[in-house]
Amino acid sequence: MAPINATKLVPTGPIEDRKSRLNDNSDTDLHELIANLPPRFFGVCPFSLTSSKPCPLPNCQLALLCTAHNDESIPGCRDQMQGNYCPKLHEYQTCEKELRNERCPYAAPQKGDKKKHGPEAKKSHMRKRIHKAYCDPEEWKHREAVAKLREMHLEGRYNE
Ligand SMILES: [Zn+2]
Ligand SMILES: [Zn+2]
Repeated sequence: MAPINATKLVPTGPIEDRKSRLNDNSDTDLHELIANLPPRFFGVCPFSLTSSKPCPLPNCQLALLCTAHNDESIPGCRDQMQGNYCPKLHEYQTCEKELRNERCPYAAPQKGDKKKHGPEAKKSHMRKRIHKAYCDPEEWKHREAVAKLREMHLEGRYNE
């Protein structure tokens, strides 16, 4: 199976246009997943967007999120905050627990939770990680779709 070249599948224009460009049926699962992705998530490394660990692909060609922007222990990306150019994407990562259908102790705290981290940690986690109940339902669906692309990215089917 030929790898999909995301740069050729320009994510602009009406959805119908994009679908017709994806009609060669060489990789149906992948096409289905990416056909409806909004431009902001198209061609983004699925590990970068949906996991706290770096992308395991040594030759990852996809766009990466800015790690400083996503660092829960600092305010954000210094370049971006100072109005300088930063080549990375300034999107926030998806909360990994919620992606795995687990309860996030910050978004849905329960009595028995250990108070390991203070209110500042909670504030910064809630600000810097995207949670299901606090984001647009469509956006959550797109983030789940991107998470499914991790496997295809690893297999090299989605890496351009
Ligand atoms: Zn990657
Ligand atoms: Zn940055």
